[in-house]
Amino acid sequence: MTDHAPASPVRLAERLANVETSAIRELFKLLGKPGIISFAGGFPDAALFDVEGIREATLAALAANPGAALQYGATEGFDPLREQLAAFMAAKGARGVAPGDLIVTTGSQQALDLIGKTLVSPGDTVIVEAPTFLATIQCFRLYGAQLLTVPVDGQGADVEALERLIEQHRPKFVYLIPTFGNPSGAQMSLERRRRVLELAVRTRTLVVEDDPYGDLYFDVPPPPSLLALSHEVPGSRACLVHCGSLSKVLSPGLRIGWMVAPPELLAKATMCKQFSDAHTSTYAQATAAQYLASGRMPATLERVRGIYARRAAAMVEALRQELGAAIDFVPPRGGLFVWARLTGANGKTADGGELARRAIEQGVAFVPGAPFFARDPDPATLRLSFATVDEDRIREGVRRLAAALG
Ligand code: PMP
Repeated sequence: MTDHAPASPVRLAERLANVETSAIRELFKLLGKPGIISFAGGFPDAALFDVEGIREATLAALAANPGAALQYGATEGFDPLREQLAAFMAAKGARGVAPGDLIVTTGSQQALDLIGKTLVSPGDTVIVEAPTFLATIQCFRLYGAQLLTVPVDGQGADVEALERLIEQHRPKFVYLIPTFGNPSGAQMSLERRRRVLELAVRTRTLVVEDDPYGDLYFDVPPPPSLLALSHEVPGSRACLVHCGSLSKVLSPGLRIGWMVAPPELLAKATMCKQFSDAHTSTYAQATAAQYLASGRMPATLERVRGIYARRAAAMVEALRQELGAAIDFVPPRGGLFVWARLTGANGKTADGGELARRAIEQGVAFVPGAPFFARDPDPATLRLSFATVDEDRIREGVRRLAAALG
């Protein structure tokens, strides 16, 4: 007899050793504290969802073709939705994208996973922005990617640095969030967008554009997406993957994303998706198709843009007033986030993690920026989301943040 616990029959795949559960998740456990004002989430505001429009779209989907809405469907996606999504992109300048050039994915998160699965062999180099979307870092690492980072400033990714990295390391692909990036909030300039496409063509490098926030601008529309610009740069469409999502503009719960990619990649991604979830919920796809066909989207976008713009302005003003020289940031022109850096002025802390812990005690939460760096984390950075908090609470939250800073 032995009192050893029997060896666990669970023997995890080696690839899991490349990925840790995120520090952010630990922080989220503290958010249940009563009275906390949270700038920590990455969610859109549920109070802004067009519930009535989605209810009508759901009923219309069931009335129009209940068999199709409730049956298994094609892995590539529900054709009426693919048509609507092609039209949605065309309205934003993406010419010549046919419904067959895209597949519907279960959120754009699945598109990122399919990109990792189809392109990354263990040890392959992938270039991402510093900072970038945390789930992308983790997803690409799961497939064994070695991540290199290109710095981001107020004009988006530094294209000269990107050029040097590409020439030196010949990456499998480059992943960019050119418009209102999560977490950077940055908007890449038109000139840099053109240069990215030219660089892609010249160096034969695949560029992945992740664009879930482009519709959420505050005043003027951002420059065209890389996809929309690609018709101006000969040969660039063949170097481009574009991921879109209805999550931030309509509802993340519907889990509707999509991916435009060169045909040879789209075919392999479709094959992998088939093994993964067979297809994205036909019910959700039929509902999204009806919603887009109903013509309600422009008014919905107009409404949510105005609300997020006012919240962003309230946060920017409060940060300037309450934190002054202790914090440095570029006011966002769209999206859901203010990305900021503690300057350490007047002997205050310049450690985002430490401030996050103190802030929770003061009743306000945010996410420290360090986990959003695939390498060389900048500990002075913070991501503050204004999306789900009204203006008065934003001002109160920033006052608490100032109190936490001391
Ligand atoms: N990309 C970025 C940059 C994001 O911020 C998010 C959501 N936070 C996603 C992709 C995934 O969104 P979804 O799967 O809901 O489309």
